[in-house]
Amino acid sequence: MRPQARTLTALTRAAFCLSALLATALPSAALDLKGLATDVPACRDFYEHVNSRWDAATPLPPDRARIGSFIDLRLANDAILEQGLAELLRKPSLQTSPGLRLVAAFYASGLDLAAIEARGLKSLQPLLDPIQALTKPAELPALLAALNRVQIAAPLAAYVAQDPKDTRRHALLFSQSGLGLPDRDDYSKTDEVSRRLQQAYRIYARALLDAAGLKPSEADIEALMAFEARLAEASRSRVQMRNPVANYNRFDAKALAEAAPGFDWAAYLRAYSGRPDGVAQFVVGQPEFAKRLAELAQNTPMATWRHYLSLRVLDASAARLPKVFADAHFAYHGRTISGLKAPEPRIETVIQTIGGRTGSAPVALGLGELFVAKAFPAEAQKRSLQLVADIKAAMRERIEGLAWMSAPTKQRALAKLDAMALKIGAPERWPDYAGLSLRADDYAGNGLAAAAWQSAQRLADLDRPVDRSRWFTSPHIVNAFAGGLNEIVFPAGILQPPFFDARADDAVNYGGIGMVIGHEITHHFDDRGRQYDSVGNLSDWWTPEDAAAYKARAERVARLYGGYEPLPGERINGYQMLGENISDMAGMPIAFEGLQRALARSGQRDKIEGYTPEQRFFISNALVWRNKSRTELLINQLRTGQHSPGKFRVLGPMSNMPAFAQAFGCKAGDPMVAGEPIQIW
Ligand SMILES: [Zn+2]
Repeated sequence: MRPQARTLTALTRAAFCLSALLATALPSAALDLKGLATDVPACRDFYEHVNSRWDAATPLPPDRARIGSFIDLRLANDAILEQGLAELLRKPSLQTSPGLRLVAAFYASGLDLAAIEARGLKSLQPLLDPIQALTKPAELPALLAALNRVQIAAPLAAYVAQDPKDTRRHALLFSQSGLGLPDRDDYSKTDEVSRRLQQAYRIYARALLDAAGLKPSEADIEALMAFEARLAEASRSRVQMRNPVANYNRFDAKALAEAAPGFDWAAYLRAYSGRPDGVAQFVVGQPEFAKRLAELAQNTPMATWRHYLSLRVLDASAARLPKVFADAHFAYHGRTISGLKAPEPRIETVIQTIGGRTGSAPVALGLGELFVAKAFPAEAQKRSLQLVADIKAAMRERIEGLAWMSAPTKQRALAKLDAMALKIGAPERWPDYAGLSLRADDYAGNGLAAAAWQSAQRLADLDRPVDRSRWFTSPHIVNAFAGGLNEIVFPAGILQPPFFDARADDAVNYGGIGMVIGHEITHHFDDRGRQYDSVGNLSDWWTPEDAAAYKARAERVARLYGGYEPLPGERINGYQMLGENISDMAGMPIAFEGLQRALARSGQRDKIEGYTPEQRFFISNALVWRNKSRTELLINQLRTGQHSPGKFRVLGPMSNMPAFAQAFGCKAGDPMVAGEPIQIW
């Protein structure tokens, strides 16, 4: 599902309703019903019905760009990590594994502000010096490769992952990247938001380059902007990037040299891979972007390249550098793009740096190891298996019952569902991090060392088969994933209230983590995911008629969400967010049907706190999506994100579920009742 925040007020489910407790002997952790607004009828706007009082009573603190259920749980997990990290530093004897030693050093380095000031740019000099020495195009391939080795995309991103067309083996993949503005269209648009972003980016670029002693002139900054605009012009839109077939193009060095002449691709591949023969075959996501890179290598003054590459290096590390850099980073990324009024607490940002937002940072699993030692939700993990089984069974029944799909396609859809793998809680083994060491006094250097180590690990994968047990997220993360190997992944970090509560009735859990499970299962059947088969290969298993019938339904989902306008003038892009929205639209019904299976087993259909199980399912879900964002962050989400704002993740699916209308007695014509409900799965 990827991030979207969610609330700790819902975590404090201890707000038991006394009368409900007296009325029933059922196991019950109360839902957080304090925010329920009876003046907003459930059938008019269910999100506001459940959350508007919370919204009115809960201010956004200056150091938060968003609050809500997801964020509250992340903060709770961060507090566990903070305590664990402090213990590791107090008692080094507790650092009993490579992962724990590494996160302890990284964490210490992030808190040592004096050491950060004292080191200045010293750790970046091995990257910055060769950039300053750049005088001719022939030097670019080795330089760009060196930046890719520390995971700086300038302008190409390079990575090794399973080959999307043969997931038994690894492939080297290249993708367009390297822009400083949030979106390629921000370079050409002239609306107020875009102009504000452009201006802030100019100021940011100047601040970083000035602080590094490069002192660019006004003309230098304009040349830099024009350079990035040329890259943006050759970049695909976010909607185009969602097409996996169009973004898979196999090349060898010779073919790429023909398609993108003017850049020594063979030299670049040798330098990046560290192999004398380079890499025989690889995937270029967007060949026209590679072509533009080659053109720019030939016809852009080296002074502009020096500024551009220096800026990419400084931007990537700025948050880990002395205050002058970190302040500039905050002014642009924090204040301008996210709308923050004050920086987030230092400890949180250090933890985020170590783990990354989705838990894929190089030593994230070190934090995961620490987290599960403190807070492994064994009961939640065990019971979640039952939820997964129920919800998969509901999906199976839906596929079998589809009127628009032919028998052969159904058979392959069912085979894919049956083959779907589950990762839950934590990995069985922790990485040994051989060859990586971090220092307690070099925050910026640690970031580069960890990135270099991870790149080397991935490059070594090119000679190894794909290990399907490997984790690409970490257990401490509040999120869930539908991975490229036809798998669904639920880190321990999300198996907690308000998603899962061992004390709660089934309705609450199926509306929480159950909906997340339904969403992740559906990802493998969304407009993008449906193009991959039972082992995760990009391979078309649809008859043309079935594919056309699917697309017609997906089109209706795109139009439904495209009609939502979260901010005046800022609509949801129904195509950019289509995969996530389809996963919500189908994920919620199968979670609901999974609940029916659980209720049939338990026979527990009594009201709790005055609500039926069906009503509690929907309330639980609307609580999970409770959130409040800064306008800037919301605009950025709408322009660049894949997820609809939380409110519409409630309204879209529920207004298209007859079961919702039935649960709350909504009538035809009510805003929460779609005239012709969309059912895609
Ligand atoms: Zn998702």
